[in-house]
This record gives sequence, structure tokens and C-alpha cells, in this order.
Amino acid sequence: MTREVNQAGNEDNTLRATLNMIKQATDLLELTPDVYEYLRVPMRFVEIAIPVEMDDGSIKVFTGYRSQHNNALGPFKGGIRFHPESNPDEVKALSMWMTLKCSLVGVPFGGGKGAVVCDPRNLSLREKEKVSRGYVRAMGAVLGPETDIPAPDVYTTAQIMAWMADEYSNIMRRPTFGVVTGKPLAVGGCAGREEATSRGCVYVAKEAARTLAIPFKGARVAIQGAGNVGGFAALLMEEEGCKIVAISDSRSGIYNHAGLDAREVIAHKKKTGSLEGITGVKQITNEELLTIDCDILIPAAMENQITAKNAGDVKAKLVVEGANGPTTPEADQILKEKNILVIPDILANSGGVTVSYFEWVQNNYGFRWDLATVNKRLEEKMVEAFNLVYGFYCEKCTGSDMRTGAYMYSIQRIAEAMHYRGWLRNGTQR
Ligand code: NAD
Repeated sequence: MTREVNQAGNEDNTLRATLNMIKQATDLLELTPDVYEYLRVPMRFVEIAIPVEMDDGSIKVFTGYRSQHNNALGPFKGGIRFHPESNPDEVKALSMWMTLKCSLVGVPFGGGKGAVVCDPRNLSLREKEKVSRGYVRAMGAVLGPETDIPAPDVYTTAQIMAWMADEYSNIMRRPTFGVVTGKPLAVGGCAGREEATSRGCVYVAKEAARTLAIPFKGARVAIQGAGNVGGFAALLMEEEGCKIVAISDSRSGIYNHAGLDAREVIAHKKKTGSLEGITGVKQITNEELLTIDCDILIPAAMENQITAKNAGDVKAKLVVEGANGPTTPEADQILKEKNILVIPDILANSGGVTVSYFEWVQNNYGFRWDLATVNKRLEEKMVEAFNLVYGFYCEKCTGSDMRTGAYMYSIQRIAEAMHYRGWLRNGTQR
């Protein structure tokens, strides 16, 4: 079941669009059809029921999912989101993007993704803890540090990861913190993991700006979403000397032509849970944010936000996809015609899984890196990935977009692994 209509009133065919992109990339690479045959479905899809005794004594049964898409390159890896609109197709598409992302950035993981259908904003802390532990109890058999390693995603936090690691450790009867990443430092977390996705976005945005000769210092930036990815992106872009002109959350948006004070805005959002009540700013809608006059647009909220309806009005020179799947295929085409470079999600937001990989390595070694080491290694990985994909796109994808180049680059590596593992008896090519 695909979510039928999203908030912008558009049909949401995220899974279909992802499959089309994978198919197109395998065709352009002239890979054997067997590659697409492997990639078009998850290797395993699990649906669970999570019964929770609510604070008022009633029982509520939540639905949870885990999609394990492909593990040709290593254990399944990918976040768990808590969202009222999560559904199997969305989770499957997200797990496919994880497979592509891990391959693209060169971390030895396959792709997975999970979700619990709930609105955490309506759950108490105790209820959230019960949902988190219930998810791991029901899903434990298919998780593990060498099997499938979840992480935070929309509306899930380091605290939720800590409860999940603890529950899994209870099942295993020993501390097994490497089963999830994105944990607090006290239980095997990695320095810099919280802001890693946004830091990765900043590194690729900076490298792209350098490549396109867009001045980075002073660049005007609009950010959709003020959560983990959007919030830290605002703070880090401001640190780099960019001017944050607009930011929004699920309820409202704010704009200031002269630049917002990102620290003040994010502190206000943390304290009050909202962007309302900030003085000296103009209130804008989420739709208006996407088409505001700026140099760099960072969608960092949900899927299908830049669509055929609003892509024609996007004014940014560069779109850096902090969120997964924020641009529809129709919008991609329009942005391409307008000469706007879109750094695709599987590249732009891969800083999160990269530092998750660093966390997993440290957990396995029982060793801890300092923040400077983490950030230096992250920067090296992101800049290298951007230049490899951008170079591949310029060389092999004339007339197409960078997303196609990223899919091709990534799938080529997965196909090679499948071949060497003996999954493709007749080689990778047609
Ligand atoms: P989050 O829960 O911390 O924040 C989500 C933000 O989006 C909130 O500010 C929320 O108010 C806002 N939002 C929700 N619906 C919205 C809408 N329709 N319009 C505008 N804003 C809306 O989640 P996050 O971890 O920041 O994830 C954001 C996106 O980044 C998701 O697409 C996620 O899959 C992707 N992502 C996250 C990570 C990570 O490490 N957290 C890594 C890679 C990709």
C-alpha cells in the first residue's frame, strides 16, 4: 500500500520511482537483467505487532516494519522511523536507498530500514520506551551487529537507540551495543554522530559550490525541516559563513532576508518544540520556503516535497538533499532544465551512515576516536564520494542528472560484489 496523497497533494509513488531509477541505471550500465531482478525486491520484509500498555492502562498494538533490501556488500544497515504515515512501500524504498547509499560512499554495509506506525508527539516518554523495546523484542531474531544494524531516523533519537541496544543486550544476555548506531556516547556512541548527516551535507555542499564557482561564504540558504538534519545543517552552514534566510518545520516556517540567527532559532525550537514566537521574522509556509530566493536549498524533512507543481519556481542554484527522496522524478526533470544541480540524497545525506559505520567499527574494536578524527575521516569520505560521483556524472551521464550518475556508480559496485559472491554466474554485463 503506497501512501496515496502527501501533504503537498501529490501522488506518492516513492517505491515505483525508485524501482524505475534502479532499472534505468542497470540498463544504462548494460548490466545483466539479473542485477535488477535481485534489486527490485527486499531480501526479507518483516511486519510485527507491538502491544503496549499505555499510561492510561489501555492496550494499543502498534505495527512495525523492517525491510532488509540487499546485503551483497555487508550487513543490512539503516534507520528506524516513528511516523504515523509509514507504510511498507515507503520502508522498502528507504531500504533500497540505504543499499545504494552504503555502496556509493564505500562503507561495507547493505541496505535496511525500519518503521513503527505511530505519532511519537502523542506518546509519553515511557510509552516511547515501551514501543522501542517492543520493536526489538519482536524483531530481535533478524537484527544483530553482524546481521542488521538500525540507527535513528525521523522522530527517533539517541535515547531510543540506547533503549533498543539495552533490550537487545537483555535478549543476548551480554552488552551488545554494536547492534544499533546513533547511540549516546555513554553507551558506545560515536563523537559527532548526532550532527554527522548535516556535517556530511555541508561538506558536499561546499565541494559542489567550489566546483560550480558559487561563493560559499555568504551564500543564502533555505532549509526545510528543523529536526536533526535540518537543525544541525542550519547551525553548521552558519558556522561556515552562509546566511540562513529561511527554515521550517512540520507546522510553520520563518524567513528573514537579512539572515536568521540560526543558533537562536534552533535553541528556540529545542526549548518550545516550535518555530512560532520568534520575533523579527516573516512567517512563511513550507511551500513558500521551497521557492524562496536563495542560493542553496536543503530539503531536510520528508519525501516528495519538490514536485512538478513547485519545481518551476525553485530559485536556488544548488539543491542538497538532506532528506531522503524529497524530489519527485518530474521535479528532477524540471530542475535539470533550469540548470539547477541536485546533489542526490544517496550522496548528500550519506554522512549519517558513514559515521554510523565509524561507530560500529569502534564498538567492534572497543576503541574510541575523538571528534577531530571522526570529522576529518567524514570530510575525506564525503569529498571523495562527491568528486567520484560528480566526475562519473560529467563523463557518463550527459543529458541526464546527477541522481542517475549516483545510481549508476553505486549499482556498478553492488553488481561487482554480487558477481564475486557467485550470485551472478554469467558475469555482470549483458
Ligand atoms: P527529525 O525527526 O529529527 O526531523 C524531521 C523534521 O522535519 C522536523 O523538524 C519536522 O517538524 C519536519 N517535518 C516533518 N514533516 C514535515 C513537512 N511535511 N514539511 C516540513 N517539515 C516537516 O528527522 P531527521 O532525522 O532530521 O530526518 C529528516 C530527513 O533526513 C528524513 O528524510 C530522513 O530519512 C533523512 N535522513 C536522516 C538521517 C539521520 O541521521 N537522522 C540520515 C540520512 C537521512
